[in-house]
Amino acid sequence: MPLLVNCVSCDELFDECGGSMSRGRHYAPFCSRYCRIFHREGYQLGQYPHFERKCDWCGAAFQLTRGKYEGSQRVCSLKCSREARAKRNNKAHRVLQTMKILARPVSAHEIAYELSKIPCNGWRNTLGSQSVANVLKLLNARGAIKILTGKNKQAYTYKLRDPNAPFKQYGKPA
Ligand SMILES: [Zn+2]
Ligand SMILES: [Zn+2]
Repeated sequence: MPLLVNCVSCDELFDECGGSMSRGRHYAPFCSRYCRIFHREGYQLGQYPHFERKCDWCGAAFQLTRGKYEGSQRVCSLKCSREARAKRNNKAHRVLQTMKILARPVSAHEIAYELSKIPCNGWRNTLGSQSVANVLKLLNARGAIKILTGKNKQAYTYKLRDPNAPFKQYGKPA
């Protein structure tokens, strides 16, 4: 179900639940990655600088610009986008990316919830909590994440070992 809310930064309507126009759906209450940075770093409306960010996949720098489509960019190039989404890397990449965006210890359930939001191409590709838990196990074995144990398995939370490490090193060789 669409849930239209106004972005806390630019005031434009966006759909918290995903759907078309929601490339930035993981940044609620902001409409995009750009708006989240803009707001947190205290910029004033009317000046829209580019922000230099590093590609999630390979670590190369790129300029993040404002906009409905480009404002939530996370990789530097089409090449990295293809590599990250290739079948052998897709699940691990999506889980890592969600953890990086949320930037706090999260449960498998929370990751699955974020991934259940409909992407801008309308093509839903969810991962249930159990699949997420399996991916997390793999990522732990590859040294990408840390497990914070709780009173039972459901209470476990996970965080990235190094939030700045390019994900490529945790991918599967082609
Ligand atoms: Zn916005
Ligand atoms: Zn890249």
